[in-house]
Amino acid sequence: MKIIKVASCLLSPFPWVLVKVTTDEGLVGIGEAYHGAGVHQIVVDQRLTNALIGEDPRNVDKLFKDMQRRMSASGFYQGAVMSAISGIEMALWDIAGQTTGVPIWQLLGGKFRDRIRVYNDCHAGDTDSIDTWVAKAKEVESRGFDAIKFDIDPLPDQRDRYNRGISNDHIAYYIDVATALREGLDSNTDLLIDGHWKHSPTDILQVAKAYESLDLYWLEDPIPPENIDAMARLTNATSTPICTGENFYTAHGFRDLVEKQAADIISPDLAKAGGLLEGRKIADLADLYYIPFCPHNICGPVGTMAVTHVCAAVPNFQLLEFHHLDNEVWSGLLIEQDLIQDGHIDVTTRPGLGVTLNIDAAQTACVDDLGFFEG
Ligand code: MG
Repeated sequence: MKIIKVASCLLSPFPWVLVKVTTDEGLVGIGEAYHGAGVHQIVVDQRLTNALIGEDPRNVDKLFKDMQRRMSASGFYQGAVMSAISGIEMALWDIAGQTTGVPIWQLLGGKFRDRIRVYNDCHAGDTDSIDTWVAKAKEVESRGFDAIKFDIDPLPDQRDRYNRGISNDHIAYYIDVATALREGLDSNTDLLIDGHWKHSPTDILQVAKAYESLDLYWLEDPIPPENIDAMARLTNATSTPICTGENFYTAHGFRDLVEKQAADIISPDLAKAGGLLEGRKIADLADLYYIPFCPHNICGPVGTMAVTHVCAAVPNFQLLEFHHLDNEVWSGLLIEQDLIQDGHIDVTTRPGLGVTLNIDAAQTACVDDLGFFEG
């Protein structure tokens, strides 16, 4: 079996990037790369596709290394290039599963669970009024989610976005928001708070200390991601669990973070961190330190379902992000419907990715740029 074509398409309004790999035997694999300007064009860049055309798609790890090596030689290693590689890698696994007649999770070592617990990212209240935050939380909870996330960074009037400072009023507001959410939700519903890297360690530590009595599931990305020692210092200074990882690439990118135990939980985004097998490697690295694996995910349904295979196949998975509640394009992109039930996704037993792209829906959402899998 040989790869004869690699194609992509960019969707709208949310710019999800789909990848399609076609073989000489007519088998087609679908994947999704983390969205971003030009990612769909990188997927079909010859420097990348030259590593694939004519090759056996079932040699997934070898082809991942070949793509990585060729792009490194061109001076590109992470960022949008690794996103493109990640989406292609998922499509290769889809083919490998279909041709062997088993789900991808089987090829990744088998499964630990039959259902993947999903948390809903609510972003923020409809207004600054804390009542609107609680109302949104309770509405999402009533729809079956027992893990819910809010962002605490989008507030107005941050005094100076460059020095990461927060006013005392904002610190108090962050504490009041989380306290009201915690009190408004069922005690068995887990609450997660995301800081989006914007805060100074001293300011956000005040928030994290105040959160200690709220029993949060985690406080995510409290400070910028680059300085692992600063992250470790913060993590060690509070019993509020600290989560980070969506801006790291490949298992090597997680090595310092995990080995220094600089976070209590890691949140790699597999549609950009290197795909499914690299996701398994990251999870296994974390598991050596008993660190839970909770993938960041803002993919459409293709990428989301691809990541469930890793979530099923690693012991330390706890939660998978879901970002697009009530998004009709998300819901219509696959033939399979109602994928999330009671805050969980059933692990598929069908070969490969285990889901089928709704071609008409995807074509309707496709941006007329490279065309619909024509590039
Ligand atoms: Mg986040």
